[in-house]
Amino acid sequence: MKVAVNEQQLRAEIKKWKEEGLTIGLCPTMGFLHEGHASLMAASAASCDRTVASVFVNPTQFGPNEDLESYPRDFEADCRLLESKGVDLVFHPEPSDMYEDDFCTYVDVDVLSKTLCGESRPIHFRGVCTVITKFLNLVKPDRIFFGKKDAQQLAVVRRMVRDLNFDVEVVGCPIVREPDGLAKSSRNTYLNDKERQAALILYKSICLGIELVEAGERNSEVLKAGMLDKLAEEPMADVEYVEVVDGSSMQPVETFKEGDLVAMAVRIGTTRLIDNFTAGENDIKAG
Ligand code: AMP
Repeated sequence: MKVAVNEQQLRAEIKKWKEEGLTIGLCPTMGFLHEGHASLMAASAASCDRTVASVFVNPTQFGPNEDLESYPRDFEADCRLLESKGVDLVFHPEPSDMYEDDFCTYVDVDVLSKTLCGESRPIHFRGVCTVITKFLNLVKPDRIFFGKKDAQQLAVVRRMVRDLNFDVEVVGCPIVREPDGLAKSSRNTYLNDKERQAALILYKSICLGIELVEAGERNSEVLKAGMLDKLAEEPMADVEYVEVVDGSSMQPVETFKEGDLVAMAVRIGTTRLIDNFTAGENDIKAG
């Protein structure tokens, strides 16, 4: 497995593969990798000749009071995991390699990125779309892989790819969970033991939502109320939102139907966690 730390090194490798006619899969990450990330690499390795993973804590997607500085990092451990998953090339640039001092060009997907997480994180998706655009231009992958854990991110990137005619297939991969159901996340490491227990309430609320849907409930307000009641059982849970939205536009819907998304953001202590489920997808399973 090779490591490219700047644009020149990355482009040199990509050029060789393109000349050989090989297909390329790209898995963008912020590192501190776990089995959720690994599932993207596995999906890429299964369908592409070469897999590139980026490990880059992208500063433009963090707001001024967010956890850019404290975001967990362990590049050596990441490389061990990536190598074991058959990744061919890791792109690990410094922020200064990605953003010149006078950088001033951004990609901003309107509408979809303003709801849900976009309400409390107004520049987040602009940063995501900007860095993904840069990665797409650098790697020119045939497929790019994202986790459904970040369902809004996946929807925003799909829209950006469609609207700006990027020649890439966007692949969404199922949420990978801990054995007890908590969605795997690099940010779970912020949780102390008590908070880790309390964090299970997200999964319990998601499970309740799925049960309600399976029992035939389609009214968004009823679904939301049930899930909020469940979250309220945990005193440490500070709910930012529970919303039922159209899976493509991320706009609220009154009646839950195929392809719609139920998404939540909840703070446990100072740690902000997200989770979701999509109508018609039965890929929820712990462990
Ligand atoms: P991050 O490093 O948090 O930016 O995540 C990089 C990619 O891994 C994103 O596409 C995430 O959606 C995906 N990812 C993170 N956690 C999970 C998970 N538990 N299951 C599936 N995909 C995940």
